[in-house]
Amino acid sequence: LKVVGVDFNEWSELRVGTGCAFDAPRPESTIEWDMVAPLSVSTLYLFKNQTYRGHCLLILDLRHATRPHELSTAEWLQFCGDLHAAENAITSAVDPDHINIAALGNVMPHLHWHIIPRYRDDPRWGAPIWLTNAAEMPDTKLAANEHHRLLQSLRRALASSSRQ
Ligand SMILES: [Zn+2]
Repeated sequence: LKVVGVDFNEWSELRVGTGCAFDAPRPESTIEWDMVAPLSVSTLYLFKNQTYRGHCLLILDLRHATRPHELSTAEWLQFCGDLHAAENAITSAVDPDHINIAALGNVMPHLHWHIIPRYRDDPRWGAPIWLTNAAEMPDTKLAANEHHRLLQSLRRALASSSRQ
């Protein structure tokens, strides 16, 4: 099985932080995502591809780092606290059947988590979402007002969980 990934030399440049698009500051909105909110050491983004409704990305803001050992324990725990808050907010905003949390770094070697709500009727239920090359994956866009409502409900859910 030949899965198309990133060329090792290109990945190695990103690995050391050369031209890393995940380094802060990042644009609030790109063709891929919209910012939900900044958290303590990371920022939460909502993907524009909403095949998995509520699919978000939580990217480390502190500095360029690829693996957990590159952070201090305190930094790692803060990042985990952000993940917990984000998963909590996503659960309350979209009420999925399950949630996958994935940190791979095969394409972007900068610490980030995919937080992927899963539904019994989604295209890959029972399996990881990445079974094929990214270009072959379903791309589902919400109507602009629906996308905006989802962003707002995630922001409300984050704000209410941080008050607890
Ligand atoms: Zn980076």
